[in-house]
Amino acid sequence: MDVAGLGQGDPFVTFWNADAETLPRERLDALALARMRATLARVGANPAWRRHLGGVGPDDVETLDDWHRLPFLTKDDLRDAYPFGFACGAESGYRRIHMSSGTTGNPILNPYTQGDVEQWGEVMARCYAAAGVTAADVIQITPSFGLFTGGFGFHYGAERLGAMVVPVGAGRTLLQLKLMRDLRTTVLTAIATYPLRIIEVAREERFDLRSLALRVGLFGSEMWTDELRARIERELSLRTFDIIGMTETGGPGLGIDCQARAGIHVWEDHYHVEVVDPLTGASVPDGREGELIVSTLTREGLPLVRYRTRDLTSVVSRERCGCGRTALRIDRLRGRADDMVVFKGVNFYPRQVEAILLRQPGFGHEYQIVLDADGGGERMTILVEREPGQDAVSAARAGRELRDLLSLHPEIRLCAAGEIERPQGKAVRVVDRR
Ligand SMILES: [Zn+2]
Repeated sequence: MDVAGLGQGDPFVTFWNADAETLPRERLDALALARMRATLARVGANPAWRRHLGGVGPDDVETLDDWHRLPFLTKDDLRDAYPFGFACGAESGYRRIHMSSGTTGNPILNPYTQGDVEQWGEVMARCYAAAGVTAADVIQITPSFGLFTGGFGFHYGAERLGAMVVPVGAGRTLLQLKLMRDLRTTVLTAIATYPLRIIEVAREERFDLRSLALRVGLFGSEMWTDELRARIERELSLRTFDIIGMTETGGPGLGIDCQARAGIHVWEDHYHVEVVDPLTGASVPDGREGELIVSTLTREGLPLVRYRTRDLTSVVSRERCGCGRTALRIDRLRGRADDMVVFKGVNFYPRQVEAILLRQPGFGHEYQIVLDADGGGERMTILVEREPGQDAVSAARAGRELRDLLSLHPEIRLCAAGEIERPQGKAVRVVDRR
């Protein structure tokens, strides 16, 4: 097989479910349509869904375009329906609950039927296979096991694969390193910025990262720039794969980039995705950035019809990939529509600042953008850590690039390695005190 983008020595392409992963486009679209109609039949038994959809049923959807005219489902819709307003299938019993908590209001619960637990294992096994992971690997799981979907998602997929699992869960970084070395862990799974913590702790504890046998990393759950990705790959000597998914869609496993590294494959026999203008909701052409909309095609406990994720991406291609998979590819998630910061009339995303900071020699990977009210105006300070031993590093070039590329004039304060607080879980990149 011709596999574009693969270098010498890369593992050859593996599929978990070769038939499903290589279905021709027409068959994928026909399957999506049939499953959309089945989803409408399923949600039709639920009064909240009937109200939301205005009585639309399976017979009203004859084409994908018909589906694209249905109303969006939002995070607020799900929060307002806490705990189980939009849930289906309670009569046959749920097997799991996972939860996504926001900063305000009710959390969002996702109840899983037995079928959902199995579906999760299937799509996660496909993700591992796309990353070249096999039953011969040792997989260390560092996201937490609990209401958060990360730990269990990686676990079910690894079990399906038949690999050996080291289920450490979140934190205890020095123990993680010790087990990674002593158990010859080959695959690391993590929230995207956790590898940075691993690298730091190794440095602080004089732990030799070259003693590890890592070869593959599956990371996700937060935005990470290409610059950050390059840094993690260099320091941990592994190849990373960007895995996407969220509590509402059933956890990680919505999609992953493959060894051709040519976009993130979304498993289209399980999920239908669209990209729309975040302001108007209108569909945008392939290649243009917009908000990711996800519909589930096989989920039973909490089916989603046109769910607004607020994540920003674009469709990269609907053609067969160099890896042989036919599922469409979207760009790596480039942040969230809600992350956009407006400062003195200038719009920017934190990832744009991150990309500039990470390419400065001597700059560490920890930074924070702090916004304050200042008299009648506002003030931006960017705190960024120096790499250890880089005391003479200057912020002048970063300041110039931020001004020239983003029209931002922040005060840049370089601080010592370790000075910026590390939260448990996801990184805090913007502190808005205005
Ligand atoms: Zn591919």
